[in-house]
Amino acid sequence: MLIDSHSHLHFHKDFPDWQEVITRAEAAGVTRQVLIGCEMRDSERAANFVQDKPSLEWVAGVHPHESQQITPENLRSLREMIRLEGDFARWVKRPVAVGEIGLDYFRSPHAPDVQQKGFREQLEIALEFDLPVVVHVRDAFEDAATVLRDSGVKRVVLHCFSGGPEQADWAWSRGFLTSFTGVVTYPKNTVLMDIVRQAPADLYMLETDCPYLAPQVHRGKRNEPAFVREIAEHVAELRGEPLETVAAQTTANAIRFFDLQV
Ligand SMILES: [Zn+2]
Repeated sequence: MLIDSHSHLHFHKDFPDWQEVITRAEAAGVTRQVLIGCEMRDSERAANFVQDKPSLEWVAGVHPHESQQITPENLRSLREMIRLEGDFARWVKRPVAVGEIGLDYFRSPHAPDVQQKGFREQLEIALEFDLPVVVHVRDAFEDAATVLRDSGVKRVVLHCFSGGPEQADWAWSRGFLTSFTGVVTYPKNTVLMDIVRQAPADLYMLETDCPYLAPQVHRGKRNEPAFVREIAEHVAELRGEPLETVAAQTTANAIRFFDLQV
């Protein structure tokens, strides 16, 4: 069994064929997915999509590209989503984490201080509800590390980990997880491959980040949850472990991290 710990299967434009995508994932042994919200409406879409689907969970949050959405009204709405109150009382499944949130100095149109404020305010919500956080960091590691450290959050995954060895050590020494995408299959990525080899068995997960970041053999095409299997095979080869070991460890890690029902 494998879990796609970071999927955007609820992007309707990308996945009009989502039923077949789920079937293919199951055939590949990817029997659960965590769907990640990118902004308020998108989080709501993810929530609506998963409610009647036992193999899917959802995560609510505002990505640093959308920091303008961090208003008192939306923060209140985010809390209501988590509590399943008000407009969201029709749902039965709560989000399993807050995310994806973080800092992106590469592409976000928002200034660092605006992004940091949004990141901090959502970390407070995670703490308030004792939820883990799914963190997106790009070209902003030092500031993200400072905000995370100051916030006091303990349950953190650095999604699509793309940092260096010192940054990985920093995360693992705090009990934070790193999660690996199809990027580990790109031949030039030797630094990341070393990090995959060194990741502590209980501190890493696998994810597609689909529809983005397809593994090497599908590069340039739409990514989908079934491809977690190829990522797992590649990770197993790098670590010199059987595929079953990688599958069992990463599944156990995702179940523990998101506190999934089994
Ligand atoms: Zn994502």
